[in-house]
Amino acid sequence: MLDSIQQYTYPCSCTRKKLVASAPAGKFGYIYPGFCRNSTINSDSTNNNHLSTRLKTNTDLVCFKDQCQKEIFCQNINKDIGDFILKRRDGLFAYQLAVVIDDALQGVSQIVRGADLYDNTPRQIYLQKILGYPQPDYLHFPVAVDSSGKKLSKQNFAPEILPTEKRANLIKALDFLGQNPPLIDNFSSLDELWLWAIKNWNTSKIPKKMTQIMSDFRQSPR
Ligand SMILES: [Zn+2]
Repeated sequence: MLDSIQQYTYPCSCTRKKLVASAPAGKFGYIYPGFCRNSTINSDSTNNNHLSTRLKTNTDLVCFKDQCQKEIFCQNINKDIGDFILKRRDGLFAYQLAVVIDDALQGVSQIVRGADLYDNTPRQIYLQKILGYPQPDYLHFPVAVDSSGKKLSKQNFAPEILPTEKRANLIKALDFLGQNPPLIDNFSSLDELWLWAIKNWNTSKIPKKMTQIMSDFRQSPR
């Protein structure tokens, strides 16, 4: 796959340490200043295993309209992020490339995910254009955070979701997504609740925010 877009890529020998020390800081981490873009490292050389592969970016704005946030978000990838990595020094393909290829090969046409990935989207659209893939629709819903603004995750010791409380969990999630579900007593089974959720789903009710505070799952109405 990388061979087919070789004219848009180049090998990079910069270490993370070098970049952290010398690359300018941006909103999304350091901005790669293109140190290796015009270097003479031979990408066909057999001893380039220690090199990463970067994608040449340009200063055109890449924009998309989010189906939840209802705004047009634009990014100048070259200025805000710089030429980004497609294949890491350790040989692993980077998230941006893997997700674009996985989605395209599976025919995914609608992407629904947390707003923590919002500013990754222009990079993925840029890659879709280069690879000749169709652009899916995007919907980014707010990320669940605690009262101090930290994402609810294992890493932040968020309370676990009890697998035995399926209905309560689903009601809480629907509530979080602005769907105003009735109280749990109205549903005698999980299937019934799913039927309600599918029938009454309304995208326009999802809060148009990047983050939203979620109270403890275990306090769900019983
Ligand atoms: Zn470099």
